[in-house]
Amino acid sequence: MPELPEVETVRQTLRQFLLLEKIINIDVYYDRIIDGDVEEFKTIVTNQRIMEIDRLGKYLIFILESDSFVSHLRMEGKYHILDSYEAIPKHTHVVFYLESGKKLCYIDTRKFGRMKIVNRDHYLEQAPLNKLGKEPFHITSEELYTAFKKSTLPVKMILLDQSVMSGIGNIYANEICFELKIDPRTKANRLSKKRVDELRLISIDVMQKAIAQGGTTIHSFDSNGIHGLFQVQLSVHTKKECPVCHHEVRKIMLNQRGTYFCPHCQKRRY
Ligand SMILES: [Zn+2]
Repeated sequence: MPELPEVETVRQTLRQFLLLEKIINIDVYYDRIIDGDVEEFKTIVTNQRIMEIDRLGKYLIFILESDSFVSHLRMEGKYHILDSYEAIPKHTHVVFYLESGKKLCYIDTRKFGRMKIVNRDHYLEQAPLNKLGKEPFHITSEELYTAFKKSTLPVKMILLDQSVMSGIGNIYANEICFELKIDPRTKANRLSKKRVDELRLISIDVMQKAIAQGGTTIHSFDSNGIHGLFQVQLSVHTKKECPVCHHEVRKIMLNQRGTYFCPHCQKRRY
């Protein structure tokens, strides 16, 4: 699943191609991608220009002239921009026809992605965005410590809890625990204020580095479309050997998510 850095890369790339483009028609081939009434979605979005593309956590927000819609790629959703003469690819569920003749296709083999109309200016106060915690860049050390102090969840799982902090998924949660040198199963309330602040700073660093790598990896749309699943340099996720001590990386399942850690560098503290 694309996480904050990948969605940010998708946002930046889409922006280059779509700003001020007018949507003149929409086809929806799979109704469930639209959260809400499909005809209403089409009516609202048609004949509006894309004024900006924003992001919160793993959500993209297309800001139009008088409305907005949010788009969540979930597992495998991606966007592809095609010229008018190009055939619509397989697994395309929504096509936005643009005034320039290009078309923006939403492609999703798993069909888990969703789009939803939200208020033009107050989308942060509406579902689903109002349920999200702040991003690592914006949460204060105090706010994060308060959340950790009252939770007995493993650190890895609180990192995945989008209502505490938004944007971190399984891959980067593993990487953050590795950088913090903490066993991912350590209970959140066992962390001192100092450790929670270290975790906050590491989260920012991991996100920023991945965004920077994404930006250098993707310059345009290739034949696979723009899904942001670029190869970032990872230290522990899916690795066999720890890059620091060369001990074997262990894989366990934590809440059904593949959890990779180095038992030598990431000591158990609970
Ligand atoms: Zn190690």
